[in-house]
Amino acid sequence: MSEPVEPSQVSRASRTRRSFLAAGAAGAAGLAAAPLWAATPADALPALDADAADGRPLTPDRVLRILEDGNRRWVTGRLRHPNQTVARREEVAAGQHPLATVFSCIDSRVPPEIVFDRGVGDLFVVRTAAQTNDGLVQGAVEYGVEESLTPLLVVMGHQRCGAVTFAVETLNAGEEAPAHLKDVLDALRPAYEAAKGLPGDQVDNTVRAQIRLTVRQLEHDPILEPFERTGRAHVVGAYYSLDTGAVDFCL
Ligand SMILES: [Zn+2]
Repeated sequence: MSEPVEPSQVSRASRTRRSFLAAGAAGAAGLAAAPLWAATPADALPALDADAADGRPLTPDRVLRILEDGNRRWVTGRLRHPNQTVARREEVAAGQHPLATVFSCIDSRVPPEIVFDRGVGDLFVVRTAAQTNDGLVQGAVEYGVEESLTPLLVVMGHQRCGAVTFAVETLNAGEEAPAHLKDVLDALRPAYEAAKGLPGDQVDNTVRAQIRLTVRQLEHDPILEPFERTGRAHVVGAYYSLDTGAVDFCL
């Protein structure tokens, strides 16, 4: 059996990532210097279990496999609870080097660290109702990718999302939403329009449309786009099943 990614392994790769941050600081958006941690394309690396502790660079593809492995443990109940020790807390107190940025819903049943079986210092997490976006939220996501150089950005929606259900029911009835719920409603309107009239469940179709539209929006973010284009970071959509606990990254 393979072993989980240990703090020492993550730290090795992360030190290299921080080296890139320092080296690239003089260039436009930190892009002048080639990042050492991404010098080897992901597809040129040998196939390797995502959790193998060999200290290799953390590419977007490898981080995706680490999250997939963690989610598999969550689905099957064979959790390892990595990086949830006092030693880990003390290690990251001096600095954080998360594996990924996760932008997801506030729903209490979908906590990213748990559904990916990760621990302290592993994930940057941004959560809003139905992962609705605005300038402050997008700034937080940009921070996760550019300043902490997380190689993977996951946009995760979920089954039977309450915020999406609220938006669909309100918009179907032609009603307004009170106070700042109007902002949530307005942010979900494009997904509602995109999913309107599609066969199947309207709420689920809207959840999936919201994931796809958010991925597309973030792919074209002026700060994130160069990272995506050069393969240093990747934006991926994900759908979480409340029924099974499984995360589908196929969106
Ligand atoms: Zn939700």
